Amino acid sequence: MAEAAIELRNLKKYFNVGKGPGGAKAYAKAVDDITLTINKGEVVGLVGESGSGKTTLARVILRLTSITGGQVIFNGVDLAKASRDDMKKMRTDVSVVFQDPASNLNPRETVMSSIMRPLVLHGTSKAEAKQKAIDALGLVKMDTRYLYSYPHQLSGGQLQRIAIARALVMNPKVMILDEPTSALDISVQAQILNLLLDLQESLKLTYLVITHDLNVIRYISDRIAVMYLGRLVEYGPTEEVIGNPRHPYTKGLMAASPILNPHDRGKEKYMMEGEPGSLINLPTGCHFNPRCPYATDRCRSELPQDVRISPLHQVACFLQEEFSIDK
Ligand code: SF4
Repeated sequence: MAEAAIELRNLKKYFNVGKGPGGAKAYAKAVDDITLTINKGEVVGLVGESGSGKTTLARVILRLTSITGGQVIFNGVDLAKASRDDMKKMRTDVSVVFQDPASNLNPRETVMSSIMRPLVLHGTSKAEAKQKAIDALGLVKMDTRYLYSYPHQLSGGQLQRIAIARALVMNPKVMILDEPTSALDISVQAQILNLLLDLQESLKLTYLVITHDLNVIRYISDRIAVMYLGRLVEYGPTEEVIGNPRHPYTKGLMAASPILNPHDRGKEKYMMEGEPGSLINLPTGCHFNPRCPYATDRCRSELPQDVRISPLHQVACFLQEEFSIDK
């Protein structure tokens, strides 16, 4: 049976944004009641438009921001109640690679000191940290001569390899990759994705890949989680979700992804209308109802709950209730 690496249970992150109508406190519900299990050795892709709450979800998992409600369970430990030692272990076992490596590397530091820094901060001797930096550079297939380079001397692809090396140097078990290729040229994107897949297999890593690009998700992920305005609306095995998307939002994302279905060119497609709404002023009922062509009065007043349409595929949409395997 699959073993969980990270479990999110009814996770919530609300930001207080001042006063709303009538003087009541107003919140941006960036993460709202998300339940999701990422199994060991699995690649889960989290997809959604900008402002859907994807990056906030990653920051909550990493405990870079506090939890409003629910739980993040890592290795059986609830991180909201974790001891200092548990948190220290989590910070070595879970690493992150952000979208823009140039802005995450200190321009005044060489590649070597950037990669060594997390080790030195955790008390590793300089000699050992240097050897580990050399090993990490080898893992991302870069020559050791780059150890003495500065960020401005490297290309976007090389910078992203350095960011990955720095994430690997602590020997993590889980990596969170936030838009790992979106700042790169298209030719370099495939190289980085292939490198990530090789590393995942050889080091038996677990990935949570966050992106707005369904093509990236399809290429790299075992399972897809689709997020809309703070909530998961569809979750399941990649080929099942891509081959048979059931939530109108997932269908809209796929229709908007030009390379995903080149054979569909010229065919009539469902195109999503409007812009994603605001996390501060969420629509009542289903958050997607203002953009959904199938919305009914029920959709405008009631929040749909998850419906399992196959053992591993779940959708939060009233239209799918009749297909529930739990009825
Ligand atoms: Fe559309 Fe209603 Fe389904 Fe929401 S619950 S996606 S509004 S049909």
